[in-house]
Amino acid sequence: MKTLASELAYFLRGRARQNLKVLVLYGIFLLTLILAYATLFRFLMWNLEGREYSFIAGIYWVITVMTTLGFGDITFQSDPGYIFAAIVTISGMIFLLIILPFGLISLFLAPWIEQRLRYHPTYELPPQTRGHILIFGIDPITRAFIQKLKARDLLFVVVTANYEQALHLEEQEGFKVVYGSATDARVLTGLRVAAARYVIANLSDPENTNICLTIRSLCQTPIVALVDDPEHADLLRLAGAHQVIPLTRILGRYLATRSTTRGALAHVLDSFGSLQIAEIPVHGTPFAGQTLKEAQIRQKTGLSVIGLWERGTFTIPSGDSLLGEHALVMFAGTRAQLSALEKFTGEAAEDELIFILGHGRIGCAAATFLDRRPIPYILVDHHESPTCQEHVVVLGDATGRHTLKKAGIDRASGVIVTTNDDSTNIFLTLTSRHLHPHIRIVARANNEENVEQLYTAGADFVVSNASVGANILMNLLEHKASAFLAEGVAVFRRPLPAALAGKTIEQSRLRPLTGCSIVALDPPDGSETLVSPPPETRLVSGTTLLLIGGPEQEALFDQIYG
Ligand code: AMP
Ligand code: ZN
Repeated sequence: MKTLASELAYFLRGRARQNLKVLVLYGIFLLTLILAYATLFRFLMWNLEGREYSFIAGIYWVITVMTTLGFGDITFQSDPGYIFAAIVTISGMIFLLIILPFGLISLFLAPWIEQRLRYHPTYELPPQTRGHILIFGIDPITRAFIQKLKARDLLFVVVTANYEQALHLEEQEGFKVVYGSATDARVLTGLRVAAARYVIANLSDPENTNICLTIRSLCQTPIVALVDDPEHADLLRLAGAHQVIPLTRILGRYLATRSTTRGALAHVLDSFGSLQIAEIPVHGTPFAGQTLKEAQIRQKTGLSVIGLWERGTFTIPSGDSLLGEHALVMFAGTRAQLSALEKFTGEAAEDELIFILGHGRIGCAAATFLDRRPIPYILVDHHESPTCQEHVVVLGDATGRHTLKKAGIDRASGVIVTTNDDSTNIFLTLTSRHLHPHIRIVARANNEENVEQLYTAGADFVVSNASVGANILMNLLEHKASAFLAEGVAVFRRPLPAALAGKTIEQSRLRPLTGCSIVALDPPDGSETLVSPPPETRLVSGTTLLLIGGPEQEALFDQIYG
């Protein structure tokens, strides 16, 4: 049944779909022709021979004549009648018996057979294959991950038990694909799983568990599993997953952190040893409207400002950069320094209220995160959650004209837009910005292509499922400490390239060459991390650099110094 469905699906795609449209138009033409002939048949019968037939009889006559069956039960007895019958027979032969089968064969059957004959799925990898990355489950996350693998020239193989998908991925997208069931030990052996570098399990939780168990019965290759329900993480570990990524929970946390204006410690994004990276909104601090020099943040707290975010644009600031009301400042420093900053940012809890639009897995995780602070929020979803009984939800379509107004969005200080549909998210971002020019909007992009549109629609922050997931996978693969800060910016660690040893930061020309900035230095002697080192600092061999930059800049760094 499944095979039949996938075969039928062939006719609904690409060129076959275009051809199907032609067939439908041709069908309409034939129908019109039959109806016209049937009408003419009745007219001629009545006017030439005085006989009356029903419309159904007319259609019956036309079909039998056009298909050259001609039973002879209804016949004309006059010359004009014979001529009409001959015309119907000939047009039937042309349109029904020649053009129709020819069209069906050339437009559908031939391309389908050709495709079948051409594509031979791969069932196993060559025995000498080593160091490859096996990917089970293709979605926007693994697709974004594959882009990264391609950029690094790493060998990957996608495994699928769906013939159509195998064909599409291999022929249209150019991936290396093996066709087979992920839980079949023979398939896994053919995938040379024991010699693989990593396995990425990105199917449903039960399927991932099954993959882990089967692989563990064969070898110890590390497995990274993406888990839908964070409660299943322990089960997956028990089944043999090396690392389990509760992506929905991580995304919920990202969204929640960025939606509030609470004190600095609550905004720690990541840490590298004693060094923490945090960001706080300028709104509500005494720094609003000042330049970085005037704000004297370093003098007051010891923290270094490593970045500035304003409506989707990230800049590495200079002394003259203005701290606008809507900007977010990104800091690097110790916990104690962040505590010192808390005095300035304060706890503005009374006037905080967050709207969470979409109570799915990610919206629910964001709410759970806000519960812990606690920060008040209102959840809106058009359905009851099948899994969460904990949260109170305002039921209604968030895109409805009055839903948000009625729920009191006027009182909100922030909104998290997290439905599973990007068009809805873009629409909700626009509406929220329109209703509330100063609200903080944090939006989720289900597909990476929509990140730009969400920023254009007025989001302050966009978090894309695909790039967060792909970044986490890449960092695990490369055993690399790297924080994912926001769309397009990351803090990453690299050993000092030999070419730069002995130079000062200024002489290294790292920033003009790669666009990356040095956030901190970890000296080789194990002494304390040097945050925001001045340009005259000399780079000694053995130092570890902590850099900030976008994915292109990170790639450029690796290309130049890799
Ligand atoms: P998830 O992908 O698990 O985070 O789920 C997304 C959630 O968004 C689901 O619970 C949907 O019911 C919800 N959702 C989708 N569209 C709308 C909408 N127009 N209004 C309210 N909730 C929505
Ligand atoms: Zn919930």
